[in-house]
Amino acid sequence: MELLHSGKVRDVYQDGDDLILVASDRVSVYDAVLPTPIPEKGKLLTRLSLWWFGQLADLVPDHVLSATDVPAQWAGRAIRCRRLRMVPVECIARGYLAGLGLREYQATGGICGVPLPPGLVEGSRLPEPIFTPTTKAPVGEHDEFITFDDVVAQVGAGVADDLRRLTLAVYRRGAERAAARGLIVADTKLEFGWAADGSLVLADEVLTPDSSRFWPADDWRPGRAQFAFDKQFLREWANTTGWDRKPPAPQVPPEIVEATRTRYREAYERLTGHRWQG
Ligand code: ATP
Ligand code: MG
Repeated sequence: MELLHSGKVRDVYQDGDDLILVASDRVSVYDAVLPTPIPEKGKLLTRLSLWWFGQLADLVPDHVLSATDVPAQWAGRAIRCRRLRMVPVECIARGYLAGLGLREYQATGGICGVPLPPGLVEGSRLPEPIFTPTTKAPVGEHDEFITFDDVVAQVGAGVADDLRRLTLAVYRRGAERAAARGLIVADTKLEFGWAADGSLVLADEVLTPDSSRFWPADDWRPGRAQFAFDKQFLREWANTTGWDRKPPAPQVPPEIVEATRTRYREAYERLTGHRWQG
């Protein structure tokens, strides 16, 4: 099988007309891959994505062809999917302020040209979920916020409208399901692609701890950093190491690896309501 692309976290192989998307146990923080893998992460994220695609099936078609028809050495961590022409925009929805969205709000009073009320703080709930697209930066560069008009300029008004509508619909469904299990989805990043007939299809991974911020609702307190079932824990550890955020990233100590693994597993179990059995 031909390796088409080796991303920070996933490897993409071509198999005839299909792709095999293999999730490794690699983890990236501040756009750098850490030298230490997180055991089972690839399987957890693959299983969680597949569960979400099922939850979203009535909202948007997805790229999944099979979760089982994959080469045996990647069983559990790979999906067979339709090969799409990817939309050159990262589609992000935000319901709460955190991370780069918070920084952008503090600098400009809005995000991606969407004005927000004054006085919001870290963790604040937004008046309503907003679409905050970014560029898809090449390896080694960081994604940049763009306005809705920039998206229109790239893909046309019709597709831009569809991307915004679908992204917000997926976010709302995700937030609703998560809320039923006591979790907040602060934000999430989606990728769409075009099928051969020109229709938009949800691709990549969806509503995983690598692509989203999940917070326990009962611990949510605006005005401070939130406890997070995602990479935030690793980012905070990385901040204590004096690392300049340029590769190579520092080795992760075993207790931090274990704590991260536990959070990924807990995110899976809480969201799906299924016990993780490996
Ligand atoms: P990162 O996510 O760490 O920023 P990356 O996006 O380059 O890096 P991965 O996410 O590890 O790498 O790899 C997945 C790649 O596969 C992405 O480039 C994504 O756009 C692409 N992809 C996902 N689904 C499809 C699909 N159905 N058809 C074509 N390409 C896809
Ligand atoms: Mg990616």
